[in-house]
Amino acid sequence: MTQIKNIGLYTSGGDSPGMNAAIRAVVRSAIYYGIEVTGIRRGYEGMIKGDLFPMDRKSVSNIIQRGGTILKTARSEQFRTPEGRKQAYEQLKKHNVDALVAIGGDGTFRGAKAFSEEFDIPVIGLPGTIDNDLCGTDFTIGYDTAINTVIDAVDKIRDTAESHDRLFIVEVMGRDSGLIALRTGIAAGAETILIPESPTDINAVFDKLEKGRKDKSSKIIMLAENGEAGDAFEIGRQIKEKFPNYDTRVSVLGHIQRGGRPSCMDRVLASRVGVAAVEALIAGHRNEMIGLIHNEIAYTPFEHATKHIAEINPDFLKIVEILAI
Ligand code: ATP
Repeated sequence: MTQIKNIGLYTSGGDSPGMNAAIRAVVRSAIYYGIEVTGIRRGYEGMIKGDLFPMDRKSVSNIIQRGGTILKTARSEQFRTPEGRKQAYEQLKKHNVDALVAIGGDGTFRGAKAFSEEFDIPVIGLPGTIDNDLCGTDFTIGYDTAINTVIDAVDKIRDTAESHDRLFIVEVMGRDSGLIALRTGIAAGAETILIPESPTDINAVFDKLEKGRKDKSSKIIMLAENGEAGDAFEIGRQIKEKFPNYDTRVSVLGHIQRGGRPSCMDRVLASRVGVAAVEALIAGHRNEMIGLIHNEIAYTPFEHATKHIAEINPDFLKIVEILAI
């Protein structure tokens, strides 16, 4: 058992729906266990600048249902330097913070690991990213909301595509991961899904369009951003060149995928891992991310959690092939 007195709490990197629910869970459970909480605004940026303030039960009222993060988030170049991290440590010392809970993605945890190795301060991470690209949890906070936002949008696109007999290339987020595209592609009945984890052969896409059912009036190609085959406009250009008769359109969904009210799944996930983070610090854990694996709390060292998931469940790809006939 470790005597933790004051937990510093921050969100960092890209925001995701459900971060507020995680903030609430950490604050409320810390208070429950008799520990103070210091909020840190704008992630590492605010830590360096000393933008710290005490949080209480009331400061997290009425936020569980709100997207974004009340603590704000940022990316900080300064924190990548030893000098920046030293400044951050001085600020934490000044505010008597003796442990940290970081809500963010892989970059956030890389920073947390570097920090915790230089200064003797335990850090626990919560997986807050829409990309679902962390090892050590089946789902990240925000992924469920984001994929539901995507299928809402694609359902609408399908209506207009069907009315005009159009082919749509829909580009979704994911950074280097195709998990959003893959799952939403299946859920929205996409004809083809293009993800970075499986190399894109544009000729295979053409082939599919050529041999596919001619009586299908609308077609959706779901594309993950940052693929080596190019963005949705580039893929659209190539398809138009090959099939001038296709009425081809592009829709890049963009930042709507990051916002909105968190789904029930994300709120419950955030609440469970938030409570577990405080309990883990009390039990002496450090430098671990808390996730859920097979619906059980799981502790994964940062260096493992940040390993990029490069493998996609082959069953998913097969399902796309079978169902797109
Ligand atoms: P998302 O996946 O949603 O974008 P993220 O946490 O991966 O979230 P990043 O921008 O990659 O977002 O990282 C957040 C911040 O973590 C960076 O701006 C930087 O301050 C810090 N950071 C990242 N990598 C390191 C590192 N190797 N050393 C120190 N700090 C780092």
